[in-house]
Amino acid sequence: MTTTSASAAHRATVYGYPRQGPNRELKKAVEGYWRGRVDAATLRETAAGLRREVWRQLADAGLHEVPTGDFSYYDHVLDTSVMVGAVPDRHRAAVAADALDGYFAMARGTQDSAPLEMTKWFDTNYHYLVPELGPDTVFAADSTKQVAEASEAMALGLAARPVLLGPVSYLLLAKPAPDVAADFAPLTLLDRLLPVYAEVLADLRAAGARWVQLDEPALVQDRTPAELNAAARAYRDLGALTDRPRLLVASYFDRLGEALPVLAAAPVEGLALDFTGPAAANLAGLAAVGGLLGKRLVAGVVDGRNVWINDLEKSLATLGTLLGLADRVDVAASCSLLHVPLDATAERDIDPQVARWLAFARQKVDEVVTLARALAHGTEAVAPQLAANRAGLASRAGSALTRDPAVRARTAAVTDADARRGQPYAERAAAQRAHLRLPLLPTTTIGSFPQTSELRAARADLRAGRVDAAAYEARVEAEIRAVIDFQERAGLDVLVHGEPERNDMVQYFAEQLSGYLATQHGWVQSYGTRYVRPPVLAGDVARPGPMTVRWTRYAQARTERPVKGMLTGPVTMLAWSFVRDDQPLAETARQVALALRDEVGDLEAAGTSVIQVDEPALRETLPLRAADRAAYLAWATEAFRLATSGVRPKTQVHTHMCYAEFGDILSAIDALDADVISLEAARSHMRVADELAAAGYPREVGPGVYDIHSPRVPEVAEVVGLLRAGLVAVPADRLWVNPDCGLKTRGWPETRRSLEHLVAAAREVRAELPGAAARP
Ligand code: GLN
Ligand code: ZN
Repeated sequence: MTTTSASAAHRATVYGYPRQGPNRELKKAVEGYWRGRVDAATLRETAAGLRREVWRQLADAGLHEVPTGDFSYYDHVLDTSVMVGAVPDRHRAAVAADALDGYFAMARGTQDSAPLEMTKWFDTNYHYLVPELGPDTVFAADSTKQVAEASEAMALGLAARPVLLGPVSYLLLAKPAPDVAADFAPLTLLDRLLPVYAEVLADLRAAGARWVQLDEPALVQDRTPAELNAAARAYRDLGALTDRPRLLVASYFDRLGEALPVLAAAPVEGLALDFTGPAAANLAGLAAVGGLLGKRLVAGVVDGRNVWINDLEKSLATLGTLLGLADRVDVAASCSLLHVPLDATAERDIDPQVARWLAFARQKVDEVVTLARALAHGTEAVAPQLAANRAGLASRAGSALTRDPAVRARTAAVTDADARRGQPYAERAAAQRAHLRLPLLPTTTIGSFPQTSELRAARADLRAGRVDAAAYEARVEAEIRAVIDFQERAGLDVLVHGEPERNDMVQYFAEQLSGYLATQHGWVQSYGTRYVRPPVLAGDVARPGPMTVRWTRYAQARTERPVKGMLTGPVTMLAWSFVRDDQPLAETARQVALALRDEVGDLEAAGTSVIQVDEPALRETLPLRAADRAAYLAWATEAFRLATSGVRPKTQVHTHMCYAEFGDILSAIDALDADVISLEAARSHMRVADELAAAGYPREVGPGVYDIHSPRVPEVAEVVGLLRAGLVAVPADRLWVNPDCGLKTRGWPETRRSLEHLVAAAREVRAELPGAAARP
């Protein structure tokens, strides 16, 4: 392993690469396989070809070690479940009959077996399949995939480093299987899992792997002493194995904190640490443990999850400090490059002056290689790269796009009062009551109505120039008329225009705000074969003109009932985009908030008396470490209030959030100061209503009574039951009746019937209320 050549003294590597292929070949092959149009052999060949292409490209770019095993047909956590034999009972037969079909059955479910649950991978927008474990779980090693992929890379003459999800993170990411007690802790299975990892490690060594990477990102979250002990035990045991490759334990997405001394003391040969963003604290952490003498340090200095060029000189300074703290320092991106698009040079529509600020996966690999070269041979060896980098950074810092004096003056002038409604809630509520004259238990929806294939086709026609803007807008207007007519007939109280003009709730606004860039090929895996193209927040944000007023006004002109204006909130506008790294997030959020504030004002001036600002991402952007949460929630809630607090007392501000876990942000929900909040609740049987009530939430609440994630139509009696449960927690004059979330993914037939049932249920429960007659 030790080599004398200076060039190899500091190596360059990455932990993973986008799996999709340059033209999303993997998505097409997998979906073709599902539809029976591509056979298994062709799918396997396509996948193997894509892997080969990536490894060759990485090696040609100058990486010394290529990652293997990071490839996946669907998800690497599911691959890990297969590797350790953790197949849920309900999928065993399918897996036994055909490994590939069984794999997809776990991922997507079948007619009679539910898929594994999907959830967010830390604070990224990637989703993994949650392992289901229980006291009876029997693990069994299956190293087939890992060994095969490492062997493929080695057959190309490359140094392959298999990358595995580590045993501690695997267990910490798992949940109790459906038939297991909810308080079962998967980490108690560690002693059973370690021998399986030992077997896989031995197989990889036999296949020729010199190093294996074990990813332990779960250790960057706050961990209990028992969990830290488990990590210590895991790596003591794995380290003590004799028949194994060298072990590199990797962490990313944040600082290791109290887990750093644990891993530093473990008998493994290397650690890979993140040094970007909040994880820069790992530098002090390393110094505090006296460095990693005797170990290899892989330094993640290139941000693996954002799209900006690295500040190479700053990274070199970090690497210089690290040289004094480890025996050998290698250079890497901070995490797998899975979270960024493939290649910035493919973006032909972005102004070349701006495109040079961008680094996607391919450019990040070059940055890593440049840094490793500079470390090995001195900065003279990479002088042209450093000069180009300096010029790119200077162009970004001095650009009119990133510094709009009008925007800057406005954010600087924001006062605390700008982010507060002028009147206490009780006064606003009375004014709204008098103005809106809604019944008790008012019914509404969350905004979108079914996005039909005709609507999508109309948008595609517009993009392709097959129809002009006028024809497209006529199509959207026709849809709005249909949506309004239906809601009037169904008897809903607060109507929506249905959002037919929106492709996506973030992209629609990003396209209309200056400071945002759209990419043409910037696809990033969200889950399985689903890829999204997040917009890029590149510059100072301003609103050149109204974005939604036209459609809301059109809808309002067609009905006497109030039509809700519908906007995406500042936190969500950041969360589902690539954000600037050259200013604090709080500053970017403030800019977006002020743009939205103007839109809110225009909606109000156009006669809109109910305005909803959605923040489904408020919870999911919560920092991984509890210590960072208060600061985040402070700017996040301030941005929401800044967007919404400019309205008159009688204008009712709504917000909406999906996802069920609100317990830890109840005070932030309160701090939004929205007059009405709608939340997902149908599946948890209104638990969130209880939680809000217990926390003394003082304003109006619409816990969802119709689970929109399934085509199932809820019965009237079922909705009545949920409303009665809601009324136990929330008084009748503060309870709203609405679905869990928007209806864009639903079809019209079930949407119609479900909303009719929802209205019937509201009427039934309303009639039972003592105060029912008191309101018109
Ligand atoms: N208003 C949006 C809709 O109805 C909200 C979507 C969401 O919460 N994710 O589609
Ligand atoms: Zn939602």
